[in-house]
Amino acid sequence: MPSFVNPEKCDGCKALDSTACQHICPNDLMVLNKATEKAYNMEPEMCWECYNCVKICPTQAVEVRGYADFVPLGAQVTPLRSTDSIMWTVKFRNGMLKRFKFPIRTTAEGAAVPDGGWETGTDDLASPVLFSEPGSCGTDTVFTK
Ligand code: SF4
Ligand code: SF4
Repeated sequence: MPSFVNPEKCDGCKALDSTACQHICPNDLMVLNKATEKAYNMEPEMCWECYNCVKICPTQAVEVRGYADFVPLGAQVTPLRSTDSIMWTVKFRNGMLKRFKFPIRTTAEGAAVPDGGWETGTDDLASPVLFSEPGSCGTDTVFTK
């Protein structure tokens, strides 16, 4: 089941030019209906249920099915993010609610060093040398050319 927007909860990100769900979707599936100021998934069959739009929506308006490997069939999952954690509310078929809170970062917001401390000589986030930690490529050297 692809993501879908609950129009009663969506405020259209207050009619910004680019809404949060539009900005985050890797498939560019979310669009804003300017007339109604509600977002919707324009190509549900292309949605891979990545949860990005679900997690970033500030009003918890986007829903998607919970994966069977972490909730039983029919359960609803709703995330609520803060600056350092995310809390998932799970509503089971019998109405029982459970909440789980997890940390989402190891540095204070805004404190991460763009080059990860590898001293690439640039803090340009568009730089190709900021791809990853060298260890993930099997090297201890940062190649800048
Ligand atoms: Fe609506 Fe949420 Fe998308 Fe904003 S992020 S437009 S509130 S669904
Ligand atoms: Fe896009 Fe992922 Fe949301 Fe589907 S779940 S609409 S792919 S952000």
